[in-house]
Parts: sequence; C-alpha cells; structure tokens
Amino acid sequence: TCDFTSGAWQEARIAPFQAFSILPSAKILHYGQQIFEGMKAYRYENGHPRLFRPLDNLGRFNASARRMAMPEIPSQIFMSALGSMVHYLRGVIPQGVGESLYIRPVMMALDSGLSLAPSQDYRFYLIASPSGSYFAGGDVHALIERSDCRAAPGGTGSVKTAGNYGGSIKSAIHARSMGYQQTLWLDARHQKFVEEFSGMNMFAVRDGILYTPELNSTILPGITRDSVIKLARSLGYDVREEAIDIDELVSDIKSGICSELFACGTAAIITPVAALGEYDGTLYTLQNTASPVAMTLRTRLLEIQIGLADDPFHWSQVVAPK
Ligand code: PMP
Repeated sequence: TCDFTSGAWQEARIAPFQAFSILPSAKILHYGQQIFEGMKAYRYENGHPRLFRPLDNLGRFNASARRMAMPEIPSQIFMSALGSMVHYLRGVIPQGVGESLYIRPVMMALDSGLSLAPSQDYRFYLIASPSGSYFAGGDVHALIERSDCRAAPGGTGSVKTAGNYGGSIKSAIHARSMGYQQTLWLDARHQKFVEEFSGMNMFAVRDGILYTPELNSTILPGITRDSVIKLARSLGYDVREEAIDIDELVSDIKSGICSELFACGTAAIITPVAALGEYDGTLYTLQNTASPVAMTLRTRLLEIQIGLADDPFHWSQVVAPK
C-alpha cells in the first residue's frame, strides 16, 4: 500500500491481506474515481520470479490516471512496490504450464465529500493471488452483443477503470444464461464494428492474415494484443489493424474464409474462440477448431513469459533478488 497525501507518494509497505477502512463519503464510492491493472509474475527454474512487460502495465495505469484525473505513479514507486511484493511471494508462485501469480494494482480516490471535484488523497495498492491457466481449450462461445455497448467514443473505454466492468456484467449474465462464455462488443455508434470481448481483445485469421480491430477511444489497448501483433509479425505473419465489420466476419466464418478467431489477454493469454452467436441462439461455428495460429502464438508467448524462448523484445524481466 502507498498513499498519496499532501501532494506526494509516501513510502510503500507490505501488509497481510486484510480489510482497510474508507469513509462512506469517499469519492471512490460515489464517482468511481478508480483505476486498476492486471499483470502476472512467473517463477521458473532458478527460483527468480519473472514479470511480463511490467512497465507497459505502468504506462497504461498512468494513461488511465490521466483520463480519470488522478495522480500518476512514478516508475520507481511502482517497480519497487511490485518487485518487493513479487520477491516476497516468490515461494507461492505456481509452476504449472500457464500458471502464475496474478497481480492487481489499484488506485482509488479517498477524499470525503459529495462534490464532483478531484480528490487530494489517493491510495495505491497491489494485491496478488496464485492463478490457474484460465485456458478454456476450444470451447469458448461468444455472444454478439447487439443491444448494450461497453464504451462510448470519448468515454473511458480505453482505460482500465471499474465502471467499464460494472456496465458489462448485465451482458455477461445474459450471455451465460444462454450458454455463452463471453460477450463480443460492437462499437456504440454503428453497432457494426467489432471491438473486443469483455476482458480480452479479439483476433480473426482470414486467408492466413491476422486481423484485429484498430485501437480507438473505446477499445482497451491490451498488452497481450500488442505482444501478439509483434510476435506474429516476427514469425512472418501478416497482421492488420483495421475495422472489422461484424456482418463480414460472420459471412467469412460461414464460408470458411475466417479459419480462426481468438481472444487474448493477461488472464487467459490466448484462447481460441469456437463460435459466435446471436440472442436467438443462432451459432456461427468455426469450421476447423484446431486453431493452429492461435496455438502457435500461445505456446511461444508462454515460453517467453517463463524465460524458455528467445525474447527479442525484452518482455520478460527477472525480479532481482534483494
Ligand atoms: N480488454 C479489456 C476490456 C480488458 O479488461 C483486458 C484485460 N486487461 C483486455 C482487453 C486485455 O488486456 P491485457 O492483454 O493487457 O490483459
């Protein structure tokens, strides 16, 4: 935990997982001035934990802070809190394939008062928990959400703030009640262009080319998305960031031109999506569920994360022993 009081960040400290108190009138509880991140540490072989692209998580955290009118975290405070915690917890980081220590940095506004003014006091803290692989094999079916939208142009969709997720729960409940595991969101303006899943970005493979929606103010710039683009290009794939029309995508799935769909994010890394579906239960199922492109990228990314494969991008960072 580290508090921002009197305009400066205080010394961070490690504490057992426990409740902390905030006032019932704290700004976070009324106006949602909160941001967070999701990242992972891996322990491998020599016992030294590894973090995956931690400064990219910090970069996105600080971009979220700017959008939500909150103070940025200096990199030395972020990295030293993260490094100390991961080093401290190194013994409980699971070692199985895809397993990790999931880390959740959070910042919230603590000032008391119901006026819509920025807070002066903030708390930054990290919580961590051993995590399984979240890998769903090829069983993911996603509901095309044609009614609600996740994010509005110029809003907060491209930053990680709590309210974006609160607004997604209704669709998640609807999707689950129909047997889908995910929601596929479309753009708010036209309900026509694919944006992303609720906690993952989307890729489609058409005629051997990888497509992902280009970033805008309504798509979260996933670090896994960026890793997939760079890794795939380095392996010789053509990757295009451009608008994806849902009707064209559906027709390409039906004709077999679209051979793979996959979701990517910190939690599940890369997960093939077997089908998209509508409210009435109509399913557009991918003809071939082997997902060779997704699985090749997944294997390579997992190897980089645990330090087993060449890491030309310097994404995997060993947490130095203290
Ligand atoms: N989109 C949303 C809405 C998310 O919450 C996440 C998870 N952070 C992602 C995409 C994937 O981002 P990342 O690869 O950085 O985990």
